[in-house]
Amino acid sequence: MKKLIFASAMAAVAASAYAGLYGDTPDAKHAWAVHDHNRPNPVKVTPADQIGQPPSDAVVLFDGTQKSFDENWTDARGNKTKWKFVNGTMESVRSAGNICSREQFGDVQLHVEWQAPVKVSGFGQGRGNSGVFVLGGMYEVQVLDSYETNPADMKNPNYADGQAGAVYGQNPPLVNPTRKPGEWQVYDIVFHQPVFEGNTCVHPGSLTVFLNGVLVQDHWEVEGPTWHMRRTRQDKPRATKGSIQFQDHGNPVHFRNVWARHLPSRYANTTHGTYLAKEQDVAAQRKATAEKLLAKIDTSKCGANEVNAILEVVSYCKGEPFCGACKKICGGYLAKLNAMDGAALDQAKGEIMGVKRSCDVLARNKVVEKCPLKAKIEEIIKARGWDKKRR
Ligand code: MG
Repeated sequence: MKKLIFASAMAAVAASAYAGLYGDTPDAKHAWAVHDHNRPNPVKVTPADQIGQPPSDAVVLFDGTQKSFDENWTDARGNKTKWKFVNGTMESVRSAGNICSREQFGDVQLHVEWQAPVKVSGFGQGRGNSGVFVLGGMYEVQVLDSYETNPADMKNPNYADGQAGAVYGQNPPLVNPTRKPGEWQVYDIVFHQPVFEGNTCVHPGSLTVFLNGVLVQDHWEVEGPTWHMRRTRQDKPRATKGSIQFQDHGNPVHFRNVWARHLPSRYANTTHGTYLAKEQDVAAQRKATAEKLLAKIDTSKCGANEVNAILEVVSYCKGEPFCGACKKICGGYLAKLNAMDGAALDQAKGEIMGVKRSCDVLARNKVVEKCPLKAKIEEIIKARGWDKKRR
């Protein structure tokens, strides 16, 4: 029984959430109401059966086949790479230079698996060194054997901002979840590029990185392009798209299962509130929605459905022709109410209370200061005793 009550309560909530005015209305920073049924739904994406495999909207850059190696990757000049295709992996070759994806990405979600050599030789930055670059080599997430990095015993000393999981030269990983050399390590990276207005950087870029499923970079705001020995800053706008690259640092590091998803810039969405909202964009979106909704209303009619619909329209935009249409429809409905006797009002109680709920949302959000229709309905409620609780 409890389950049934819960289910019906949820259904009622769902129904009311999708029917006209309900949550707080759009405002100067928000183009959409809370729980707005007109707000576009996200595009459907089919996830892979297994975590770590590409979802339906991913660009598969390397799937372990010679074909994807040959077709999707080049050297830094766009020519055939000298990296090797070995047993379903891509292997870094000394002096071959970085391997670069043909496809160019801006903001991106990137999945990469990499493997430091089973026999790692060398010391510090010489052990299984490579790197995952985004935006055409601009920003590096370090690839390195960091399994036994321990500056104290000097077995494999390394600087913290050069370990696996580091934003190279800028920020060490939060923790060190690396596996032994020879085992596969998994990167899931989200990169947002910096945003410029003219020559001024208004939002720094950021890197969020999971290494073997563990968060190691928590929305790190990149100070500038990553560099060896040098600090950089966002001093000028740079290319907004570039290749994914893996670094040739002279060690035979392997890569597999590489896929990426193009992401929209977080800063392109200026109509959904927060400090990113731009009031003129919000106003334009609200007007466009009001126009779309008004076109669906038969303004020659003035029933409760038309009233609820036009009140929703003015919640988006109070300019003309919306206000004029609202006055006409609501005026017609008001005249109908005035002409109804007590029995007719009682019969129409459900729809009248529905209109009142719409009026209440507008009043609560101060969209309408004085509403003759709301006043009339409140008068009816009192006169008919609808406000009295049943015993
Ligand atoms: Mg490197």
